[in-house]
Amino acid sequence: RRIETFNVAQLIEDILAFLYPTIVDVNAQTACTIDPSFSLTGNRDEIKQVLINILSNALDALQRVSGERLIHIEGFQNEQKASISIANNGSPIPPDILPVIFEPFFTTKELGTGIGLYVCKEIIERHDGTISCESSERSTEFRMTFDLR
Ligand code: ADP
Ligand code: MG
Repeated sequence: RRIETFNVAQLIEDILAFLYPTIVDVNAQTACTIDPSFSLTGNRDEIKQVLINILSNALDALQRVSGERLIHIEGFQNEQKASISIANNGSPIPPDILPVIFEPFFTTKELGTGIGLYVCKEIIERHDGTISCESSERSTEFRMTFDLR
């Protein structure tokens, strides 16, 4: 398992290129605000998988939305912490299922596996980070935070 310091803005650019056909298919608008110098130390492929999982879920959710379909990606780093947030508009996650979305095999999709968010949590925790989700009528946001102190 390779550990390296990699640029997050570049990683997200790669991922958006990879997901581009689906983004076009869903007719989603993406807006990205990332420090160009934002870097993380860890396994790039694992973090890539996390971000692809979360973005894929966002695209799934947007597919069920009429009107504007938006994804906002934000990333920053300061002395204390690094943070990546991915938010989409669309119908919120009901409060009663919010506590179980990271559990293995929990899915609300007909053809879902329920593996994605579980794997995300495993990988983020392996990188000494935390992952959380907030969902409201306006947006569903997944935030990953890494303590740098
Ligand atoms: P899967 O995508 O196979 O269902 P995941 O572990 O990736 O499994 O997600 C678990 C569940 O969390 C989904 O089935 C869905 O109910 C909910 N979920 C995850 N991301 C979102 C999102 N952006 N908007 C709405 N619901 C979501
Ligand atoms: Mg998924």
